[in-house]
Amino acid sequence: NFFNAGALAGLDASKVTITKAKTLKPIPAVEDLGMGNTMTDHMMVATFHPARGWSAPEIKPYGPLELDPASSCFQYCPNVFEGMKAYLDPEGHPRLFRPDLNMARMRQSAERVALPPFDPAELLTLIKRLVTLEQRWIPTTPGCALYIRPTLIGTRPALGVSASDHALLYVILSPMGPYFPTGPRAISLLGVRAPARGTGAWKLGLNYAPGFQAQRAAAGRGYQQVLWLEKAGAGLGGMKVTEAGAMNFFVVVRRDDGGVDVVTPPLDGTVLPGVTRASCLALLRAPAPFAPGLPKLHAHERALSVADLVRYAEAGRLLEAFGVGTAVVVVPVGRIGYEEEGAGEGEGGRKVSDIVLPEGVGVARALWEALVEIQEGRREWEGWS
Ligand code: PMP
Repeated sequence: NFFNAGALAGLDASKVTITKAKTLKPIPAVEDLGMGNTMTDHMMVATFHPARGWSAPEIKPYGPLELDPASSCFQYCPNVFEGMKAYLDPEGHPRLFRPDLNMARMRQSAERVALPPFDPAELLTLIKRLVTLEQRWIPTTPGCALYIRPTLIGTRPALGVSASDHALLYVILSPMGPYFPTGPRAISLLGVRAPARGTGAWKLGLNYAPGFQAQRAAAGRGYQQVLWLEKAGAGLGGMKVTEAGAMNFFVVVRRDDGGVDVVTPPLDGTVLPGVTRASCLALLRAPAPFAPGLPKLHAHERALSVADLVRYAEAGRLLEAFGVGTAVVVVPVGRIGYEEEGAGEGEGGRKVSDIVLPEGVGVARALWEALVEIQEGRREWEGWS
């Protein structure tokens, strides 16, 4: 083991020290919250040192970090993070949604960029302490929640190009207004070539910045999000759909037997194993239908190309497309733009054709409703909340 973890102090939630803020911030009205613009009063911080292991965690007033400018996080980007939410149930108790999955994914992300390991159960205990301390920040308005951003960055103060053997772990919280105050509304996507293969299956900071330019270019061409495509062969058949922005992607396709296929790309190393994705698949595959009034559902994890989307749409079989993720839960897609010769790289100018999605058969809507009910503790499902 590179870190000789057995000989070093492990992350230990029982050692946490709590220093409360002297003055508490006013909480903005729900309408003014936006997405992640306001941070709560406190944060959790712990550091890893190669000779000592994990420091005693601290919960302390939210504030700036002081870091050596040579820290590897600024140079080589060994940075990982998670995104999860705390919800209030009808009794006013905070709940987390499947946090064990986020903790496990964060461990894997850390391992992927050679950051030190930590005990996921200890980090979860620390998150619960922090969320409990900040409970007044969890919005009570339905559809709103307290976003939780655990972050682990490499802080080795040296320029040699190698793994960071120092690290900083912190958790910050931000109340979020409703994405969809009146239920989900359809968004548009533009198919563009994903910047890189290779690390999409881990939640690394370095996966995000290379997509910002294409994101901005898509917005300039009238699309709200990008549909990330991977070039795996010639023509539209070779353009494989991976994800939609920071969401996993699903389509609903009519079958000849009256049922529907619900298809999402497989976890082949390019796609982030989303907690919401896994939860949607579990609901779709539940032996008893998870919602009334839907056609018979057949869930599949299989490759989808732009040519498949076009073919389904032309045959009138493409009933729905939707994105899923912690932030939006489930959002329907109303329109998908694609370039005939393949994916654009955001430079604009080339001709784009649109697939316009019909109203749908209610699969996205039913998943959204079920997940929000489970998250807010209004419906019990396998101890997820
Ligand atoms: N894909 C990417 C690239 C993401 O950043 C996210 C958000 N974590 C997702 C998919 C959805 O994952 P989850 O359902 O775990 O939020």
